[in-house]
Amino acid sequence: MSHSLLILAGDGIGPEVMQQVIRLLGWFERKRGLKFDITEALCGGSAIDVEGAPISDATMKIAASVDAVLLGAVGGPRWDSLAFDQKPERGLLRLRKELGLFANLRPAMVFEALVDASSLKPDLVRGLDIMILRELTGGVYFGEPRGITTLPDGQKRGVNTQVYTTREIERIARVGFELAAKRNGKVHSVEKANVMESGVLWREVVTQVHQAEFSHIELQHMYADNCAMQLVRNPKQFDVIVTDNLFGDLLSDCAAMLTGSLGMLPSASLGAVGPNGKRPAMYEPVHGSAPDIAGRNIANPLATILSLAMAFRLSFNLPEEARQIEEAVKRVLDSGIRTADIYSDGMAKVSTSTMGEAVLREIDRL
Ligand code: NAD
Repeated sequence: MSHSLLILAGDGIGPEVMQQVIRLLGWFERKRGLKFDITEALCGGSAIDVEGAPISDATMKIAASVDAVLLGAVGGPRWDSLAFDQKPERGLLRLRKELGLFANLRPAMVFEALVDASSLKPDLVRGLDIMILRELTGGVYFGEPRGITTLPDGQKRGVNTQVYTTREIERIARVGFELAAKRNGKVHSVEKANVMESGVLWREVVTQVHQAEFSHIELQHMYADNCAMQLVRNPKQFDVIVTDNLFGDLLSDCAAMLTGSLGMLPSASLGAVGPNGKRPAMYEPVHGSAPDIAGRNIANPLATILSLAMAFRLSFNLPEEARQIEEAVKRVLDSGIRTADIYSDGMAKVSTSTMGEAVLREIDRL
């Protein structure tokens, strides 16, 4: 059985970090007999330069047909002066929108070897492994009415609308409970039901889905402001946090920083299972295209490599291989090998490609 994969390396450090993933896929083909049907295409600034749009219709068609899309990063100063609707990031937004990627998964995991990179005390984050699940296609970033109008007295008025429907809340809640079932069986549902009607509905619907389908999972409701506080006070109390687009945006960045390094953080965005049984999915590192270090072979490829592990687990049903990738990353870090962004005194500073080789060497030993 072959797993189909669209690789969009993108701009800046995207192609450098993606190269390490391609080597890893080659290793799984040679050593483990897995088969990957890989298509590489352009996205972001590089697609604007060559194809005249941040993502072409042809690439979108492939994205809609594969088991998973793997994206490096898009954007950079060369394209900053373009109009908003022509920017490299539009490629990403088009992928999210047209594939219906409503569930954004951002794990925050602290590797023992990097426990000192966190801004929190080691004891608070040692062994941390939480998953923030953010609703990605609804809420205040998309709600209507929106806009800036001028009032009769000359003042201006800016409006955005926080809006969620039963169906939207149900489907994200289900993803949250399903994730928790494969993890530690605990969900925190986060909103502001104390001051927002959309939060009242969110709480009601999550409770209904829980009672009807997932009563074996532990569910706790929490206000978003309390959740922000708890994330820095006692982050290990969480397993899966499910929340809306706006709160998820903030809380996932906060949780990310518990781990200390942008170069280590993977993510996944999932759509609804279609009639063919396939769930559209895109995997990408949380970091951007890092133009300040692009082309120098010094970027950290581990976030992209860990994004591949998420694809193995969530799209290819290869949980054991996913675990092996994560274990190899852990062992590389334990051995003191570091790219510049996670370097500390006494460690061995290596390039992007040497880090890729180190992961291959460790996985070979497992
Ligand atoms: P960034 O994540 O690209 O970089 C922030 C800082 O972190 C930089 O100093 C960078 O060198 C460092 N960094 C990031 N990833 C790293 C890695 N893997 N290894 C080592 N160091 C790393 O964010 P930014 O500078 O705000 O944005 C740069 C460009 O990326 C912009 O055009 C922005 O729009 C774009 N961007 C794209 C995405 C995406 O493709 N999903 C996400 C965020 C930003």
